[in-house]
Amino acid sequence: MKAQPPASHFIDGEYVEDTDGAVIESIYPATGEVIAKLHAATPAIVEKAIASAKRAQKEWAAMSPMARGRVLKRAAEIIRERNRELSELETLDTGKPIQETIVADPTSGADAFEFFGGVAPAAMNGSHIPLGGDWAYTKRVPLGVCVGIGAWNYPQQIACWKGAPALVVGNAMVFKPSETTPLGALKIAEILIEAGLPKGVYNVIQGDRETGPLLVNHPDVAKVSLTGSVPTGRKVAAAAAGGLKHVTMELGGKSPLIVFDDADVESAISGAMLGNFYSTGQVCSNGTRVFVQKAIKEKFLARLKERTEAILIGDPQKEETQMGPMVSWAQREKVLGYIEKGKAEGATLITGGGIPNNVSGEGYFVQPTVFADVTDNMTIAREEIFGPVMCVLDFTDEAEVLERANSSEFGLAGGVFTADLSRAHRVVDQLEAGTLWINTYNLCPVEIPFGGSKQSGFGRENSLAAIEHYSELKTVYVGMGKCEAPY
Ligand code: NAD
Repeated sequence: MKAQPPASHFIDGEYVEDTDGAVIESIYPATGEVIAKLHAATPAIVEKAIASAKRAQKEWAAMSPMARGRVLKRAAEIIRERNRELSELETLDTGKPIQETIVADPTSGADAFEFFGGVAPAAMNGSHIPLGGDWAYTKRVPLGVCVGIGAWNYPQQIACWKGAPALVVGNAMVFKPSETTPLGALKIAEILIEAGLPKGVYNVIQGDRETGPLLVNHPDVAKVSLTGSVPTGRKVAAAAAGGLKHVTMELGGKSPLIVFDDADVESAISGAMLGNFYSTGQVCSNGTRVFVQKAIKEKFLARLKERTEAILIGDPQKEETQMGPMVSWAQREKVLGYIEKGKAEGATLITGGGIPNNVSGEGYFVQPTVFADVTDNMTIAREEIFGPVMCVLDFTDEAEVLERANSSEFGLAGGVFTADLSRAHRVVDQLEAGTLWINTYNLCPVEIPFGGSKQSGFGRENSLAAIEHYSELKTVYVGMGKCEAPY
């Protein structure tokens, strides 16, 4: 098989198999071909992974932060050296075009290892608190064994975005990729060993919704970081609360992107296309509710239609392809179902709306689709579609659009395009979301915090903020005189 790894799991520095686990087929979404067969972790594999992480964490945490940082930076270098090979694997695993994976997937993982490797020497610094004679100090300490659970849209990036901040402060990790995209994380685990990571510090086990709870409920796990949908987030947060575990939740969204009539229209269309069609629309922070001010609606839609119809959709392994298939048959069916709902509920179909006729019938392709005249109560304006379906809604003024943009249970992201910078800042200030963009969209460099509010989750990934979510403070009070008591 095209992408068969040596075994399903990577534990304690080596590949491990247990064929008693349910079969997981990895399918190349562009053709439907099975490219690897793996097994879900059995309870014995889960125990082995957590035991190895627990043992290795002590050794890893005892190393100096500088030494830990060196390992992470070396991992970043190796990922960059193998970018082509890793990107090809990511394309097979997800169906995303090589044109994207080569710039956005392994490289973004490498950025995370480079960033956290770089800040390592200062990441654990504490503070000194004078108390007039007595004094206190704080130390930043790791949590212990952290579990990472990934979604299928950015498998390698998620494995790195969770692994890098967890590891830099001296935690160990057991990472479970999505059952839909099981391959990339295994390579990240291999690379970390090659970079000098002690065995057992970063383990990967396969599995699905049956396996996840075994990790989340395990008494030796101190923290769970999930990237997934809101319903899964609710279950995982509830289970983690049972054990009073630390939690980071990176969940879904239905983010607003507001285009005022003074905006550079071409630039706003670029933002809207990036925020709806990149990764075939399978991006959590997508600006899927595009609010366009009435005065520029017709101009915006005409040019958007023209540019959308020029998107090159097809074989993701060809360098020129700009859009690949959906990740799975199930996701394609879900997206096509939403498109039908959009038509039935009265939205105007501007372009797309079905299956492209220029690509193989076996792949999970969907046309990039634009609906206009979408109203706030339509299903396509309320629910996360997670496919290349853009909803354009029109608005009259700032107060109105702000109220409508915020009337969503989600709060992951949002954006505004305008030439008026004070309006831009005023609007983002009032948008209820964790990550916002002005005159651009969906850029998530590792230097900036990323995460959601409301039902889109809590905690932040990337940036120095992530360090706080993978560590805690220990406070030490130092008595300098005699200890006195009233007894
Ligand atoms: P999903 O919720 O179906 O699955 C996510 C992961 O959780 C998978 O690994 C799955 O096996 C696991 N899982 C499922 N049930 C579980 C349980 N009860 N306990 C423990 N683990 C469990 O999500 P998906 O379909 O893989 O990904 C798409 C969703 O992810 C979308 O909603 C998208 O918005 C979201 N997402 C969010 C971000 C972000 O950073 N905010 C990024 C990417 C994707």
